[in-house]
Amino acid sequence: MTITNVEWFFYIVRCKDNSLYSGITNNLEERVKKHNDGTGAKYTSSHKPVALVYSERHGNFSEAKKREQEVKRWPKSKKEELVLSQSEIPRISHIPDGRDIGVDDFSAELMAPCGMNCALCSHYLALIKQAGGTHRMVECPGCRSSGRQCAIKRSCERVRRGKTRLCSQCAKFPCSRVVHIDERYRKHYNYSMIDTLKAIQQSGVEAVLAVQRERHRCPRCGGVICIHNGKCYTCDEVKSWRG
Ligand code: SF4
Ligand code: SF4
Ligand SMILES: [Zn+2]
Repeated sequence: MTITNVEWFFYIVRCKDNSLYSGITNNLEERVKKHNDGTGAKYTSSHKPVALVYSERHGNFSEAKKREQEVKRWPKSKKEELVLSQSEIPRISHIPDGRDIGVDDFSAELMAPCGMNCALCSHYLALIKQAGGTHRMVECPGCRSSGRQCAIKRSCERVRRGKTRLCSQCAKFPCSRVVHIDERYRKHYNYSMIDTLKAIQQSGVEAVLAVQRERHRCPRCGGVICIHNGKCYTCDEVKSWRG
């Protein structure tokens, strides 16, 4: 997504405590900067840093304002669905400012089209942690960021072009690519992409993230237990849950 200042935007930012704040602006980049220097809004000044997780272009101020008023009335779970519907986020979302990521940082924009939660991935955790030593890995900003692409995004044009936000919305679901990656993850990591996507369809992304928070919470420090190596990147606790 390109950020320009020629039109009005309705936008949503995710705050440090995982709450969502929405507003309108004719200059997204500037507005997010203001939220982060504490001059954007009273709420965000005490909940920064924030990261832009959703935006919509509108032709003029009144259309954007109308949309803002509509969405502001929604419950958080419905706003999370809106965040999830965006195919590509403008930049990596919600990297905590120098602190370690915890399960409470799980968010809709990190749910990849294939059903993988990128916040559980060793490549994403390596980026957040800027890990050296035993954690040294290729870093990845998550599937919905414009950085590195992994299996599904690389091989499926629909996903790459942002036409399918979640594979479960595709008529071909589950196609052979998804079945293949699902089998691999079930076998090696006790995680099912297909079941995750079906659960999102049935109960919404917030409900699925709540279950994952409990399952992947480090028992010692509340950090994230990586799905690939069973390690907490915060305290080095090792938890074995693989089936
Ligand atoms: S490597 Fe794939 S699963 Fe891991 S963070 Fe990147 S896009 Fe997500
Ligand atoms: S289910 Fe559809 S969108 Fe997902 S990888 Fe297969 S063809 Fe692409
Ligand atoms: Zn830990």
